[in-house]
Amino acid sequence: MACGEVMARRERPVLSVEEAQAHILSTVHVLGLEKVQLLEAAERVLAQEVPADRDIPPVTNAAMDGFALRGADVAAGRREFEVVGQVAAGHQTDVRVGPGEAVRIMTGAPVPEGADTVVRFEQTQLSDGQITLLKPPSPGANVRQAGEDVRRGQSVLKPGKLLRPQEIGMLAALGQLEVSVIRRPRVAILGTGDEVVPPDRTPGPSQIRDANSHTVAAQVQRYGAVPLMMGVAHDEEELVRQGMRSAVERGADFIITSGGVSVGDFDLVKQVMDAEGRMHFWSLNMKPGRPMAFGDVGGVPLLGLPGNPVAAMISTRLYARPALLKMQGRRSWSESTIIARLVDPITRKDGRRHYLRVRLRDTEDGFEAEQTGDQGSGILNSLVQADGLAVIPEDARHLPAGSDVEVILLE
Ligand code: AMP
Ligand code: MG
Repeated sequence: MACGEVMARRERPVLSVEEAQAHILSTVHVLGLEKVQLLEAAERVLAQEVPADRDIPPVTNAAMDGFALRGADVAAGRREFEVVGQVAAGHQTDVRVGPGEAVRIMTGAPVPEGADTVVRFEQTQLSDGQITLLKPPSPGANVRQAGEDVRRGQSVLKPGKLLRPQEIGMLAALGQLEVSVIRRPRVAILGTGDEVVPPDRTPGPSQIRDANSHTVAAQVQRYGAVPLMMGVAHDEEELVRQGMRSAVERGADFIITSGGVSVGDFDLVKQVMDAEGRMHFWSLNMKPGRPMAFGDVGGVPLLGLPGNPVAAMISTRLYARPALLKMQGRRSWSESTIIARLVDPITRKDGRRHYLRVRLRDTEDGFEAEQTGDQGSGILNSLVQADGLAVIPEDARHLPAGSDVEVILLE
């Protein structure tokens, strides 16, 4: 009996989107760490403790341009001061501020000894080396204390922290030019199909160029991983096997194939996975993207996507994205969604969750979502036109025009 017949008869469990996501997430692990240059660390997850090597700010300094003086003088009712020096940011002065004296000071400059208060230029009048306070500052005003942002020795950033721009700035402030972060997953991407040719080749009359590998690679990059392009395997067991094996040999942390997971005569991905490792074949309760294979080959997780371009892209978003984020040490992969009103009514009777490609319009009272034409799972242009994926729940049989739906943003 041929392998294909065995596969066709095998039970195919129906899974919800969440069940499939949970299964895939449970099989992937956080990767090891690597040291990278500071800017390379942006949007990655920190894998080290970062203690402060010094106080920030290092010295007590002016928060405003103005004059530094003694708060006690102001409290005692003095309004006139003699200007005895000046200090700019990045410089120091040995002038000591005595009673009745003031030093011209710029934002960020160290407050000279004796002074503890800064009065803004705008609140003084200067003539003949003397200032008069137009509005007396409260004692201690406009002064930033040494260490008020960060204390020397304090653990400022901890492992697990996602390095957003503000954390990158903090690392720079702490002099951390190299940081340990969780490394990026290497994702091998393999197309399949006799009809599919790499885009740099001239397709024959019944052939198409490989869109999927490129859609998936661009998505994988967006999710912080590194795509390894494995080309296209023809629908022959040996070639599919070679593609998978060379993905493992090239050190892939995750493999994504497209095509060849349905029940067609030449859908070979499943049986090769079965022979080379482990394979679950699922019927996902969603549309587009019902059939999907997941398992591992040579210990490397493998996601076998359906070949239709829309299904392949949506499945990558729903199933590869959370896994790749988890592997990079991210702790959250929930989607940012918005609520929008449907422009057209929708009737669905199959009990599956639908992901409709929609164009969004920002109106005075919220967003409107309009379907981008033909919703066939092979119509890549429907995604090109789309701003989001409207999620139509399994139990929604009929949604009248104007109904609120959740929309996953594609930007
Ligand atoms: P399959 O899942 O292999 O049965 O493929 C389903 C449909 O997707 C077929 O019409 C294929 O030609 C198409 N397809 C498969 N792989 C690709 C690809 N890499 N790029 C564009 N279309 C594809
Ligand atoms: Mg195929």
